Amino acid sequence: MPIQPTAKIWHNGKLIDWDKAQIHVMSHVVHYGSSVFEGIRCYGQPDGAAIFRLPEHMQRLLDSAKIYRMPIPYSLEQLSSAVVETVEANGVAPCYVRPIAMRGYGEIGVSPKGSPTEVYIANFAWGKYMAASHGGGEDAGSDVCVSSWNRLAPNTMPSLAKAGANYMNSQLIRMEADMHGYAEGIALDVNGYLSEGSGENLFIVRNGVLYTTPLATSVLAGITRDSILTLARHFGIPVVEQVMPREMLYLADEVFFTGTAAEVSPIRSVDKILVADGRPGPITRQLADEFFGIANGLRADRFGWLTPVNVAVEQAVSA
Ligand code: PMP
Repeated sequence: MPIQPTAKIWHNGKLIDWDKAQIHVMSHVVHYGSSVFEGIRCYGQPDGAAIFRLPEHMQRLLDSAKIYRMPIPYSLEQLSSAVVETVEANGVAPCYVRPIAMRGYGEIGVSPKGSPTEVYIANFAWGKYMAASHGGGEDAGSDVCVSSWNRLAPNTMPSLAKAGANYMNSQLIRMEADMHGYAEGIALDVNGYLSEGSGENLFIVRNGVLYTTPLATSVLAGITRDSILTLARHFGIPVVEQVMPREMLYLADEVFFTGTAAEVSPIRSVDKILVADGRPGPITRQLADEFFGIANGLRADRFGWLTPVNVAVEQAVSA
């Protein structure tokens, strides 16, 4: 579905009209993929709307920029306030927020030093990313495959940076899955161990233990991943971050993806092998219920994850 424009986009400290947020075709980012960005959700709640883990997302934006030596002339507080300002100016909630910092128009050599940093923040309505994400019914779950593409090798592109260029690899994974009729692909790392989806972290449950792939397997340090690990520890579910072979997927009792867009998305089958009986398992449901309960303001925000915004909530957002 095409983006539904909102009124304003934040650019280098000012709100400008959506249609005016344009860059020149000779900008460094267009040629060399030199952007870092975030994806954040703002949830509707009984008493208004709230942004989920805003400071953590903006800190990751600063971290991504630091890895790429990209100067950002705004503090964490300024960037976080800019997101609130944009969401409140546009008055759209629930919504998805997309802050992006890029190397702009200047010199055209590979070195980005002569290209100024441009920072933009947009927000817009966006529904479910994976059709069968939690809330899609008791039997919901996606059919996924293991990709023939590997994730980025650690000494090539740093996966802890959420950089635009990384998503060329994600596009290959996603398009291949699509062409073969799967909802998503799971990539292995360069050593053949499990890594992550094209835009999601990976979780596996076996014998009551929750496993996820460690940061050293070329994954993004997902903020939803961190939320799920925090909730699991809170519930006393044993949590293990370890390198895992592909076949753990086939032997799992439960498998699910996490991500800001994907939220908590149960996986029904991998490479046409059913995960247990094909229905979301009890640990997936317990964690997803708590995650959505907090995000939607129906359960206590006991970890301080929400930043309230002053926006009237729209009743329905189409998927
Ligand atoms: N891995 C990749 C490659 C991603 O693009 C995303 C989405 N940002 C994630 C994992 C999940 O990260 P988060 O939970 O912070 O959205």
